[in-house]
Amino acid sequence: MRRRFSRVIVFDLDDTLYLERDYVFSGFKAVGRWAAAALGVSGLGQVMRNRFDAGCRTKIFDDSLRDLGIDAQPATIARMLATYRQHRPEIGLAPDAERFLASRDAATAFAVITDGFLDAQRRKIRALGLYGRGIHMGICTDKWGRDCWKPNPRAFEHVEQLFGRSGGALTYVADNPSKDFTAPRSLGWNTVQIVRPGRIHDYAHRQMVPADRIIETMEQF
Ligand SMILES: [Mg+2]
Repeated sequence: MRRRFSRVIVFDLDDTLYLERDYVFSGFKAVGRWAAAALGVSGLGQVMRNRFDAGCRTKIFDDSLRDLGIDAQPATIARMLATYRQHRPEIGLAPDAERFLASRDAATAFAVITDGFLDAQRRKIRALGLYGRGIHMGICTDKWGRDCWKPNPRAFEHVEQLFGRSGGALTYVADNPSKDFTAPRSLGWNTVQIVRPGRIHDYAHRQMVPADRIIETMEQF
């Protein structure tokens, strides 16, 4: 990157720039459409959503199929998973994140570091239109393999090199203290945890590396 920025703000993606719940519901809808066409069943998307709303977080595909009297064959589950990860997400930036990016100053660079399946994360970045909203660089750690997901420092070191800045010139904003802040803290970055109402995960019982600061909206940044 030729231009020199005075500071770099790096965001996590899920439950940081948008609500991951919206992605989950969008994925369920896509799987529901697939099931209607491929299995001839209607309402699977809604059944999955109801399970999710009831607090279920595992085996939602299997159990929802069974709710509708369909055998949860491994091949069927695999197709559902592929449909979920490869669907075009109907998601939007959190309004405060959108305003924050819109009011950016020219001396600040913006980037994203996100874990998760490569295909799915790339589709989210595209759906959110991040490159048209001032994000200079989006790094999906999965492109280097699962070992390079956070807390691996590789993506953070990559950002330092790309922008020619290190330590306190950089800030990482993310939601998950069980993995998000380990690497940036070890590199001397500033860290901010955003705790969005409506987030999927509650990390209260995990082992944690806390951020320097906690906010609920980008207005408090
Ligand atoms: Mg996250």
